[in-house]
Amino acid sequence: MKPFEFIKAASTEEAVAALAEHGPGIRILAGGTDLLVDLKHAGQSPGVVMDVSGIDDLGAISVDDDGLHIGAGATHTAIMTDPLIAEHAPAMIDAAHTVGAVQTRNLGTIGGNLVTCVPSMDSGPVLVALEADVILAGASGIRRLALTEFFVGPRKTILAAGEMLVDIVIPKANLGKPAGFIKFGLRKGQALALVNAASAAWIEDGKFAAPRIALGAVAPVVIRCEAAEAALDGQPVSDAVIAEAAKIAAGEAKPIDDFRASKSYRLDLIEVGVRRTLAAAAGLKGE
Ligand SMILES: Cc1cc2nc3c(=O)[nH]c(=O)nc-3n(C[C@H](O)[C@H](O)[C@H](O)COP(=O)(O)OP(=O)(O)OC[C@H]3O[C@@H](n4cnc5c(N)ncnc54)[C@H](O)[C@@H]3O)c2cc1C
Repeated sequence: MKPFEFIKAASTEEAVAALAEHGPGIRILAGGTDLLVDLKHAGQSPGVVMDVSGIDDLGAISVDDDGLHIGAGATHTAIMTDPLIAEHAPAMIDAAHTVGAVQTRNLGTIGGNLVTCVPSMDSGPVLVALEADVILAGASGIRRLALTEFFVGPRKTILAAGEMLVDIVIPKANLGKPAGFIKFGLRKGQALALVNAASAAWIEDGKFAAPRIALGAVAPVVIRCEAAEAALDGQPVSDAVIAEAAKIAAGEAKPIDDFRASKSYRLDLIEVGVRRTLAAAAGLKGE
């Protein structure tokens, strides 16, 4: 690892000021579970590494009129154990539980997961299915956008130079929306997702209302399956309707063939994952 200057920010304001001062030569360190791997293999020193893990409000989880706020610095363990998450977005707990091992979950943050932006990230699908927004802070102020706009490509987000991710907001209208998450890997623990999936839907008079389906590891970024959602909206809850939506969702994905799994196996996993997460959202027993 190349030498670098290490600084510690005590507040978000201080962190934003340091980002402006150091320009592209500064990297944020939250839990470090992705960054340290990057730094070990980097040919060049980042110049400055700024630790933001001591900024208390960056890890805060709260509810207000806007919705459920999850600070970018919230660790996966904090998400798994937070009563507000359990009450308003319990599928987030299922997703957080699948990230790495205990040590990784204790250090790794939701913000770091989203900013690293690998297609297989486990925090993305539930947040996309619950239509989360992200709040970014920079020297020129704050901006808020849909999480789907935040993801630009593999390892690429819309974050501009000098900006940091501060908050993730699940809108109030989606709090308590029934949702399910599933991750398929090559083993049960410490696995990179071959496919991960999340579905959320209200059930009104036995019919799907505002269904949302999100998939990870099947395209350059986490995607929403809008054709499947449209086919499902207003339909009665049944295994046949769910199976049809799952087929459509598989048609919207672009999984790859690689040494870990073939494209056709991943397409099968997508169908199974969408079926199971929709069944969970609908309160069915499922497969
Ligand atoms: C052994 C191991 C197993 C893993 N297993 C999984 C897994 O199963 N599923 C999964 O999804 N991931 C997994 N990961 C990846 C990683 O743990 C997660 O992505 C984690 O959430 C990253 O968070 P962090 O706080 O450690 O990020 P860091 O490493 O601190 O930062 C990651 C990147 O985000 C930037 N960053 C961090 N916070 C902010 C912010 N607030 N604003 C702007 N930029 C920021 C950093 O500069 C860096 O570029 C694993 C990693 C390891 C080492």
